[in-house]
Amino acid sequence: MGCVFCKIISKKISSDVIYEDDNIVAFNDLSPVAPVHFLVIPKIHISSADEICDENKYIISEIFGHIPLICRNLGLNGEYRIVNNCGKMAGQTVNHIHFHVLSGREFGWPPG
Ligand code: 5GP
Ligand code: ZN
Repeated sequence: MGCVFCKIISKKISSDVIYEDDNIVAFNDLSPVAPVHFLVIPKIHISSADEICDENKYIISEIFGHIPLICRNLGLNGEYRIVNNCGKMAGQTVNHIHFHVLSGREFGWPPG
């Protein structure tokens, strides 16, 4: 399959990994839009948030269980934004579910 994030998981494409365990990986975004910008993904391929179901929903709780720990390790002081873009209209460009974690500057609301 041509999924770029599956290739990052299998190390066919190199990335700047900041956390990894058996089920999830966190790595710095190639084109950061904030001083801190990393992505957290499951190792199983789920196309988007719209594909979360009973069978795979445990992984979302694993991801959210680890984000505070990663952020604490990075010294983010509890100040960050978590973003998921689901579908083309919402800005999703990579069809492997991922959560952006952004920090280090102020963010506007609502998003553009
Ligand atoms: P989306 O637009 O789908 O919400 O976010 C996809 C993100 O993946 C973008 O912020 C983009 O910069 C990042 N990205 C795309 N390809 C790569 C890659 O090969 N390596 C890394 N580290 N990030 C990537
Ligand atoms: Zn994938």
